[in-house]
Amino acid sequence: MNGTEKLKEVIVNGQWNWPPNRQLIEIQQRVQDIPVSLQPDCIGWHKRGGAFSTKQVWQLIRRASVIVPWWKLVWFSKRIPKHYFCLWLTILHAHKTKDKLLNWGLISSARCVFHCGGSESMDHLFFECPYTRDMWRDALRRCNFHRNILPWEEEVQWLEAYAKGDNFLAILMRLAVGATVYHIWLERNNRCFRNLFLPGDEISKRIREDMGRKIKSTGYAYGNDNDRHHSLCINWGVL
Ligand SMILES: [Zn+2]
Repeated sequence: MNGTEKLKEVIVNGQWNWPPNRQLIEIQQRVQDIPVSLQPDCIGWHKRGGAFSTKQVWQLIRRASVIVPWWKLVWFSKRIPKHYFCLWLTILHAHKTKDKLLNWGLISSARCVFHCGGSESMDHLFFECPYTRDMWRDALRRCNFHRNILPWEEEVQWLEAYAKGDNFLAILMRLAVGATVYHIWLERNNRCFRNLFLPGDEISKRIREDMGRKIKSTGYAYGNDNDRHHSLCINWGVL
């Protein structure tokens, strides 16, 4: 195809009929569930006499996704956007970890960049690796949780259950998982691509600094003198 074809050229006898072309695979996947009609095209209004609304058009043509149980971990007003974009990709298993690159034949070793002797995968980075496990354990302790670290899927389920609501602790826990995942992935990329290495203490310090700035900027550090709130603020270095 040269880019000048019309839609009707990929529809034959009321069926999608795409030519074999790797560049078209993504668009094929996106449209495959759209039913093809043999009726002539027509333009219609959702509501007679109503004003045109791009919102209504979008609602009519979009394919609504299933609501995922973890969405409140990722989307909330106090989030740090760059952290939560990274967390979103992590929950979706979308990072190009070394185990995937090895499977695709793009690299020859999946050795963990933190030199623990293990192989890099999503589950290893978050948080089977002893190096990253310590960072998440430190963040949990600062939220006053002292427990063993769970496999990633179970950590997400635990957070869904215990980090919900708008209370200070729940927001801290959601901020903490976003900051920890972001700084681990950043360090992993710096080691892979820039040959830059930070010690674990320094990573944890950067997590605390991001958390502290956010807590101060939201005003959460002030105006509440109950003991739990006070101890959480001290834990995160904002009092
Ligand atoms: Zn490791």
